[in-house]
Amino acid sequence: MTACRVCGGKIAAPAYEAPAPALTSIMTLLDIPTRVYVCDRCGHAQCDEIPDIETFYDIGYRISLNSEGHDQIFAVKPDGTVIYRTDHQAEIARNLLDLPQAATLLDYGAAKADTLHKIVAARPDIEPYVFDVSTDYASAWNGWIAPNAQATYEVPAAWDGRFDAAMSHFVIEHVADPIGFIRGIHKLLKPRGTLLLSMPDVSANPGDMTVADHINHFSEASLRRALAAGGFEVSVIDTTSFPGAFFAVAVRSETPVKQEQDATLVQQAVERGLEICDFWRASAAYLEKRADTFRGRKVAIYGAGFYGSWIFSRIGNDVELTAFLDQNPNLQNAVHFGHPVIAPTAIAEDAEALFIGLNPLKARAAIGNMPHLHKSGLQLVWLEA
Ligand SMILES: [Zn+2]
Repeated sequence: MTACRVCGGKIAAPAYEAPAPALTSIMTLLDIPTRVYVCDRCGHAQCDEIPDIETFYDIGYRISLNSEGHDQIFAVKPDGTVIYRTDHQAEIARNLLDLPQAATLLDYGAAKADTLHKIVAARPDIEPYVFDVSTDYASAWNGWIAPNAQATYEVPAAWDGRFDAAMSHFVIEHVADPIGFIRGIHKLLKPRGTLLLSMPDVSANPGDMTVADHINHFSEASLRRALAAGGFEVSVIDTTSFPGAFFAVAVRSETPVKQEQDATLVQQAVERGLEICDFWRASAAYLEKRADTFRGRKVAIYGAGFYGSWIFSRIGNDVELTAFLDQNPNLQNAVHFGHPVIAPTAIAEDAEALFIGLNPLKARAAIGNMPHLHKSGLQLVWLEA
């Protein structure tokens, strides 16, 4: 039994449960089981909190921190041009926020604040502020954000009511009290100030359901409810600009916001949540069987991102892994869980199977475009049975 973090409703039993290890968003393994609960009252899905959550984000969570130029790849255009995630995020944010001249903009849970940096580069009139729960990022802020516009661990009381807008990218999925989190930002905005929140959309990226530190999996229904509970009127929920994510824009209300619940939206969210849980249960059981078939034999995993890492967490001890294959040049030549990451064309001649670690909604189309992976003697193993 657990309580829904959005509506407070009781959820009797998990819809998905898997034994340890659990995989985090930064591709580390935690020695905890995975348990996903789906709330049938508001359409929210959630996992147990990870142990010692403060320390994990303070010193354990150094996303994209190692090299200045490192960024996650959002997409590769047909001509080979790479679109980086924070460039794309900054463009969406600029368009959605549509800020007035000389606006004050707070990046809440900023990490290195790359998105804010790129917004300010395009709009030098904007006054940037940052907040995070770690001091790891100060060196990335210094030089372009005034020292008194930087806050760590706690937001100064003087910031209450100061901001024209606040944005928080891919943070709320990590927090144990999402309503308190939204209320905390409400307090910092001016009346009618704008909030931009981005987060994974599990319905479009089902792998998100099993990410250990993504303890909230919002649906449109639960996101609307959470924003209302936090004192915001929703203007836009954009599900298309960043496939696999929600970008929500909401306006600070000065009076309590009525929580209108759309029963159809809730029902859709619940059905989709349960469907994704069923998918992972079936996939885990199927992978176990396939790992048995290839026990001690040479196999490769396609994808060094979340899905490939998840496959590794399930079969890594059973098979002889030759390599992870990945198209991302930033990952090639790296070592992942003790195994090399190589270009897909460099797959070992003697690999007998290739486990496909890609978003199941896109995997077959992506692999279909790679003729060198379709050859005799190489079995392709998909996530779905
Ligand atoms: Zn709920």
